[in-house]
Amino acid sequence: CFIALEGGEGAGKSTQAKRLQEWLTAEGYDVVLTREPGDTDVGKELRRIVLDPATGNISHRTEALLYAADKAEHVDSVVAPALARGAVVITDRYVDSTLAYQGAGRDLADLEVERIARWATADLRPNLTVVLDLPPQHGMSRFEERDRIEGESVEFHERVRDMFLQLASGQPEHYLVVDARASIDDIASEIRARVEPLLDA
Ligand code: C5P
Repeated sequence: CFIALEGGEGAGKSTQAKRLQEWLTAEGYDVVLTREPGDTDVGKELRRIVLDPATGNISHRTEALLYAADKAEHVDSVVAPALARGAVVITDRYVDSTLAYQGAGRDLADLEVERIARWATADLRPNLTVVLDLPPQHGMSRFEERDRIEGESVEFHERVRDMFLQLASGQPEHYLVVDARASIDDIASEIRARVEPLLDA
């Protein structure tokens, strides 16, 4: 079972990913919690390059390709092997982040970005994507990590948010959209309720 958590900055993805991992582990499942960008050794280097303010303004296509390289390494060395041995994989960000940030945010052609991201991930798709939805002003004030993304406009983050919601509305059977302003406990139980029936399917 493959679950992705998506959403803007400060929406609480990492907290919910951890909560889900703890619950699944307590239920006796083999669980792998991972993230994009930066879970693998190569990915850590790529994350440093794309998110380091010292990198300056890299071309948007370069950025998209670096994220794609991170994805390929992530899927081949972490996600696919874990799924093959029967583990539940939870990833903090996945293809939808690329469609939202590089596609909608950076304004690259959606179809091209999607083709690159699908190729990079060998078209491996989550059984469920949880979108932690938050108005950008809310998330940005909670966002402390100092990287160059922080400097993006509210409009950029609005486009990112709208893309997550658009992706979710296109395939409701594979998505859960949660209001990220709810309490951590309420969100965690909403996610658990949606994940439970998928586990032994
Ligand atoms: O939330 P997380 O720490 O995983 O993401 C780090 C940063 O990378 C975020 O600020 C997000 O805007 C950016 N990012 C991106 N494109 C992606 C994935 C993440 O711009 N595909």
